[in-house]
Amino acid sequence: MTDLRPIGLLAELTHRCPLGCPYCSNPLDLVRAGQELDTKTWTRVFAEAAELGALHVHLSGGEPLVRKDIAELVNAAHLAGLYTNLITSAVGLTAQSLTELRAAGLEHVQISIQGVDTARADAVAHHKGAAKAKREAAKLVVEEGLALTVNAVIHRGNIADVAAIIDLAEGWGAGRLEVAHVQYHGWAIANRASLMPAREDFLAAAKIVEDARKRLEGTLVIDHVIPDYYAERPKACMGGWGRQVIVVAPDGRALPCHAAATLPGLAFDNVREKPLGEIWTNSEAFQKFRGTEWMPKPCQGCERAEIDWGGCRCQAFALTGNPATTDPVCALSPDHQKMREMATADAASTNGTYRFRRIGG
Ligand code: SF4
Ligand code: SF4
Repeated sequence: MTDLRPIGLLAELTHRCPLGCPYCSNPLDLVRAGQELDTKTWTRVFAEAAELGALHVHLSGGEPLVRKDIAELVNAAHLAGLYTNLITSAVGLTAQSLTELRAAGLEHVQISIQGVDTARADAVAHHKGAAKAKREAAKLVVEEGLALTVNAVIHRGNIADVAAIIDLAEGWGAGRLEVAHVQYHGWAIANRASLMPAREDFLAAAKIVEDARKRLEGTLVIDHVIPDYYAERPKACMGGWGRQVIVVAPDGRALPCHAAATLPGLAFDNVREKPLGEIWTNSEAFQKFRGTEWMPKPCQGCERAEIDWGGCRCQAFALTGNPATTDPVCALSPDHQKMREMATADAASTNGTYRFRRIGG
C-alpha cells in the first residue's frame, strides 16, 4: 500500500513514428499498431489518472499525431481535468489539425528538434523535410497562442551547435527549451558509440547553457539534462520509482518508467485488465523499487537516498546486469569507474553510422 499519488501520466499512445531518431528512448521491441489501446480504454485511463491525483498528461509516442483519434484523446484528457501536453516530432502537424486540437482542449505543445542545420537534422531524424516541418509547426503553435517547449536532444553530432539551438528556440518564441543530452536507454544504447560526446565538449556546452540561462531569464526557461555518463551523482529517475509518474505503453502495460519493460523478472499489469489506481498501489512492478528498503549499500543509509532514490534502475541493469544495484552514475558506486571508461572509449570512437529506430529493428 502507498499514500503516494502520481503527479503525471505519460501516455505513450503509439510507437509508430515517421522519424527514425537513433537516440529514441522507445524500446527496441516496438509495439505494433494492432496492439494499441483503443479510444475508449484511453478515455477510461485518463479519468482514472485524474482520480488518482495526476495533474497533467503528456501525450507522447512514437508520434501521437499518427493516431486518427488524437483530437478525441486530447478532449478526453481535457474533460478528465488533466493539463494536456502534446509531445510531437511535429511532422504531420497542420494549421487545421492544430486548430482542432486546441478546440479539443490542447494546452501545450513540445516539439523535438534534431539541430539547426537542415540537412544534418534531417539526416539524424532519418526523414527528409522534418526540420522544415518543425519550423513551420512551431510558428503555428505560437500563432495559436499555445505554450511551446522546444526539446533538443544533444549528442556528438550536434553538441557544437548548442548556442545556435538556444538562439533558434528564442527566435521561435518558445517559452521553454530543454537542452537534453541523450539518455542511454532504448535505441540510444545501440548507438552509444556514435552519439557519446567528449567530456570537454560537454563541459563547453554546459557553460554556454548556464550563460544563456542568466541572459534569457524571464524570456526563455532553459532546462538542462546533463549526460549521466559524465555526472557524479544520479538524477532521481522519474522523480523516484513509482512516486510521481505512471507510464502507460501503447499496448496498455503500466510502467514506473518508459524503459522499465527492459528489466528482467518484473510482471507489468495492463490497464486493459485492471484500473490504474489498483496498479499504482498494489502491482508488484510499482512496489519493487519504491522507497528505500530495496536499496543496497552504499545507497542504504546515504544522505541522498530520499533525494535521488538510488538513481535509475534501468541504467543500473543496462550497465551491470543487476537492476537492484546502485546506479553506476554515482561516484560511490563500485561500477562508476567502469562506466566512465565506457564513455571515454565511446567518445573516442570514429563510428559515425547510426542504427535508425524502426519497427522490426
Ligand atoms: S525520438 Fe524520434 S523516432 Fe523516437 S518517437 Fe521521438 S521523433 Fe519518433
Ligand atoms: S549512494 Fe545511492 S543514494 Fe547515495 S548518492 Fe549514490 S546513488 Fe544516491
